Amino acid sequence: MPSGRHFLQIPGPSNVPDRILRAMDRAVTDHRGPNFAEIGGKALEGMREIFGTRERVVIYPASGTGAWEAALANTMSPGDRVLMYETGHFAALWARLAGKLGLDAQVIKGDWRSGADAAAIGAALSEDRSGRIKAVCVVHNETSTGAVSDIAAVRAAMDAAGHPALLMVDTISSLASVPYAHDEWGVDVSISGSQKGLMLPPGLSFNAISKKAEAAAGSAALPRSYWDWEEMKGPNETGYFPYTPATNLLYALNEAIDMLREEGLEAVFARHRRHAAATRAAVEAWGLEVLCAVPADRSPVLTAVMMPQGQSADDFRAVTLKHYDMSLGNGLSKVADRVFRIGHLGDFNDLMLCGTLAGVEMGLRDAGVRHRPGGLAAAMDMLAPARRQAAEGRP
Ligand code: PLP
Repeated sequence: MPSGRHFLQIPGPSNVPDRILRAMDRAVTDHRGPNFAEIGGKALEGMREIFGTRERVVIYPASGTGAWEAALANTMSPGDRVLMYETGHFAALWARLAGKLGLDAQVIKGDWRSGADAAAIGAALSEDRSGRIKAVCVVHNETSTGAVSDIAAVRAAMDAAGHPALLMVDTISSLASVPYAHDEWGVDVSISGSQKGLMLPPGLSFNAISKKAEAAAGSAALPRSYWDWEEMKGPNETGYFPYTPATNLLYALNEAIDMLREEGLEAVFARHRRHAAATRAAVEAWGLEVLCAVPADRSPVLTAVMMPQGQSADDFRAVTLKHYDMSLGNGLSKVADRVFRIGHLGDFNDLMLCGTLAGVEMGLRDAGVRHRPGGLAAAMDMLAPARRQAAEGRP
């Protein structure tokens, strides 16, 4: 076993702070006992705040994929058409899931180097004169490419087209790291997971549900049982779950909510922007290219870096793991072996970022990747207090 702490710098699961691990390290409680309603109720209230909603939130003991399925299974009927924007690997997986549920996924192919094109979504909706499209599905932060989509712009395009489809947004890798506003942006179903900005281990996922989505669930005919929002009325009304909840993860969630409130969500978002700006300064100094080609779309959560032509990202990542005990994210499907991903999210600070970037720079050297040295120095410069305001600006 290597000495010291492993550097887990994939874009989720993110590092779980000791405070959260301590909060989980408790005897399992009776989930039907007198104290549990308070635990469940606090978690739901906190999650409403983080989603930016006064509407209902549902918590599943499941990974994010479960909450994707829940969003569709509760609101759609067999054969319904869903318009899905392929920002990258995760958007493509969501479309595949929709197909497996018996939905007709109409996919707008993106270039995997930018966020969703709201105008293209608006155009597809305008062409849908018979109203076959029942939902528009967008991934807010595409974890495979490091591109953020402008959800308010998607909502505006839907409104301009006068289309009644539901808007569903995957916030699995953006929630509590990138500003998000379920109510203000008119999102009908938001989907998230515990293992990224919320700083928890994997195992919880969420739906935030608008009244319109709730109404759609009343007539939606896809079969559902475990995911049924109706069955999940208990936690909202009494704090008790219809089945055994992930009790210790709920302790952890409540601790995470306290931590996020103490730092303040705006400060959390600014910190993510600063670390992303410093990472990009490093990539630029190395002479490498960021996969997301549109600067305004670049993610505060992760940076996907393109390898020089003919060099293997996976070989480089293997060297970094072997020499420096650091895990970096791999390239997924279309960009497999072509990119590596640096996670800079969750419980993270300036020196953790410097350690991460030092590891990347040493790994680039050791693996013989064509680059210029000086990335870490450029990032350190960006992290200096005098540059703080510029680095914390919008991505
Ligand atoms: N959507 C996005 C944007 C993700 O990043 C992930 C996982 O990384 C998923 C969906 C799938 O979530 P899970 O692996 O928790 O099922």
